Amino acid sequence: MPKPPATAKQPIASTKTKSSRGAKPAPAAAHSAEVGASGVPTSGVPTVEGFKQAILRHLVSTLARVPQAATPHDWWVATSLAVRDSLHERLIATQDRYIKDNVRRLYYLSMEYLVGRLFESNLYATGLADVARTALAELGVDYTQTLDAELDMGLGNGGLGRLAACFFDSLATLDYPAIGYGMYYEFGLFRQEFVDAHQVEHPDRWRVFGSPWEVLHSDYAQEIPLYGRVENHFDDRGHSTPRWVDTKTILGLPHDIAVAGYGTRTVNLLRLWSSHAPDDFDLAAFNEGSYAEASRKKQAGESISKVLYPNDKTENGKALRLVQQYFFVACSLRDILRRHFRDPRNSWANFADKAAIQLNDTHPAIAVVELMRLMLDEHGLGWDEAWALTTLTLSYTNHTLLPEALETWGVPLFERLLPRHLQLIYEINRRLMQHCVAHWPQDLEKQRTCSIFEENGAKSVRMANLAVVGSHTVNGVAALHTELLKRELFPEFAELYPGKFQNKTNGITPRRWLLQCNPRLAAFITRTLGHGDWVRDLDRLRELEAHAAQPDVQREFLAIKRANKAELADIIARDCSGLCVSPDALFDVQIKRLHEYKRQHLNLLHILALYRRLLQNPQLDLVPRVFIFAAKAAPGYDLAKNIIRAINLVAARINADERIGGKLKVAFLPNYRVSLAEKIIPAADLSEQISTAGKEASGTGNMKLALNGALTIGTLDGANVEIEEAVGAENCFIFGMTVDEVAALRARGYYPRSVYDADEELRALVDWIGSDFFTPGEHAAFAPLHHSLLGGGDPFMVLPDFRAYSDAQQKVEACYRDSTQWAHKALLNVARVGRFSSDRTIREYARDIWRLPAVPMA
Ligand SMILES: *Cc1c(COP(=O)(O)O)cnc(C)c1O
Repeated sequence: MPKPPATAKQPIASTKTKSSRGAKPAPAAAHSAEVGASGVPTSGVPTVEGFKQAILRHLVSTLARVPQAATPHDWWVATSLAVRDSLHERLIATQDRYIKDNVRRLYYLSMEYLVGRLFESNLYATGLADVARTALAELGVDYTQTLDAELDMGLGNGGLGRLAACFFDSLATLDYPAIGYGMYYEFGLFRQEFVDAHQVEHPDRWRVFGSPWEVLHSDYAQEIPLYGRVENHFDDRGHSTPRWVDTKTILGLPHDIAVAGYGTRTVNLLRLWSSHAPDDFDLAAFNEGSYAEASRKKQAGESISKVLYPNDKTENGKALRLVQQYFFVACSLRDILRRHFRDPRNSWANFADKAAIQLNDTHPAIAVVELMRLMLDEHGLGWDEAWALTTLTLSYTNHTLLPEALETWGVPLFERLLPRHLQLIYEINRRLMQHCVAHWPQDLEKQRTCSIFEENGAKSVRMANLAVVGSHTVNGVAALHTELLKRELFPEFAELYPGKFQNKTNGITPRRWLLQCNPRLAAFITRTLGHGDWVRDLDRLRELEAHAAQPDVQREFLAIKRANKAELADIIARDCSGLCVSPDALFDVQIKRLHEYKRQHLNLLHILALYRRLLQNPQLDLVPRVFIFAAKAAPGYDLAKNIIRAINLVAARINADERIGGKLKVAFLPNYRVSLAEKIIPAADLSEQISTAGKEASGTGNMKLALNGALTIGTLDGANVEIEEAVGAENCFIFGMTVDEVAALRARGYYPRSVYDADEELRALVDWIGSDFFTPGEHAAFAPLHHSLLGGGDPFMVLPDFRAYSDAQQKVEACYRDSTQWAHKALLNVARVGRFSSDRTIREYARDIWRLPAVPMA
């Protein structure tokens, strides 16, 4: 057997500036074709000439276009398809190997994958980045225009979905066999526009023209039952078995997206389900003249995977959302069982050896019940065996402590949609309650807290309790969050199941969030360290520490940051109605979903404070700042939308005020998404991570920004705690109440008015927000915001943290004036945040939760 070409080690840190690494010795043939294990010809990395031919071939044969008439979108599709050729060869080889070796696999169930664009990440992963750049240049095609033709794959709301995407990058890079299951939404998260400072939502029709990354496998379609009722069927000896009958059927079709590792030949899969009516076209109804009825049925079938719910961290009990959860879980579990039993070596006896199933939050928690149902009702296992297999296989990640984010579903809704599942939940709960009574015979309160059923008010199913009970391991996503999970949210379960709870601090992929988004800094690091090994081993950034005090290194770092800021300034001018900002100002960045607990309104109060200080003293020597926001609000979250409007209108006023000499600018970039984050983060000086202590589970934006040399101003919340530990207290700006201080203040009784009364400046700022100053002719435009701060009780304690925040901002300012000191601190941040690579996170999951061996592709 011929050896595969030696392309396992990919070129490192390819840059957007001209790179000498791009010029590789050209092999004689366009492809060094060989035959792989599956009989599929495998190619090495194509030459520039070969890649050009592949692009042109796809342009003509797939798109029916001549180059002269091709649009940027055509070039993007044709080039993507040429990249996909390499990807799919590796995908087949990887899957062949997994099948042959009957490997243990991770199955990751997630309702969201916030992938962003795939063009560049696939170029880097296949080692084609330089080849593609040169090939497109030789074809006379603009590279940036080509990649900007791609719409983000925005199948997620925020941090949770982006975490899933980072995890899949790391899983493939570290050669772990994994399949990600989810939903192939027709509409991703809405596209945001500002009209008259209001957020306006537009549908995100991201795949209306199809996606070059997707492959549909209709032979793996699944039929999923829904609704109906349960009847008891008696056999001839009087034994009864429950039967779920009179169900409706939904068809699930799998759309596969290849996910390639960096510097390895492993390619894993995201398998995303779309829903359809079982008969695409109801001929009987058509013949009776009910074409409309037939197409209505078809639409009802498709509606399940139509839209991503745009709510981040709130659940509103909508029936369609429960149907979505059940639908994608049911499709995925059937697919897992199909794969397992396809191999004659497998049986139920080794099921838990071959499958680890991770629940990303409670969204797929119905898997506990559906897996039980499949084993009991369709495979004839007994309860004890089925329960043992279920709890050996499943594990659950908790992502939030916010009570409004904990999913519950009304029992009547369950009864109507999933009557058999409800029966099984009752049985699971009966056994759980036996366990609780044995453990706390006297303590009814503890028993009630553990129950899967919430009995106060309308009876409902608590999905978090179901997930905890049905999993062998429950993990939090940062050290502090896991402590609070055990201490505050699930103290009874932590006592009932010692050892079940673990911490797995989140991480981010350094491929997308440094190598790809910040090519200048990536090339500089590679040059300074003398190697690019940091891309696969982020702890190696530690070697930068030895250079952080060198003046030339600091100068170069600042020059890179300035160049990135100049690029962002152009984007701000384009997307914020011509707003002109200076790349020499401090870029102060808060980018994340708009949520009260994240406290964009605390940032706004500080902006108003600086503006007011300047108005009262125009000579005030302030460091010029650009405040940069990007954030989407859930469409039904009125207060969040009011905060967006307030920031936009304050921005308009400040940006137009010539009296302050351009010292302050406020830019709210519309339509926050992965590809925009990739442009903002490399240009950030200051990273705003200012949530109320105890509310942000981890955060990952904090990690991306620190990795790109922004200093953090933040509370002791989520992973900020660990970031401070890693970079050193002197290299970030920690302020505000701790979790314990928040709890103590709450226990004493918190009255925002007493803080307001005691701080003259704060009082003026809150009153300013309540006035019509920023909205001449429109009365009380910010009344919801004003009310939440004062009359509404300031639930996220913005006012008591304001003074500490303002003081910390003055320290930021003093530090920024000394650019040497600033560069030194920023470099130390970059050098010391290697532990926040999702590679580290995934290794820990694989070792401690999944017991998952890596399977390197030779
Ligand atoms: C990283 C990321 C998030 C999460 O940001 P946090 O600051 O951790 O809330 C949300 N959305 C996008 C597009 C991201 O890239």
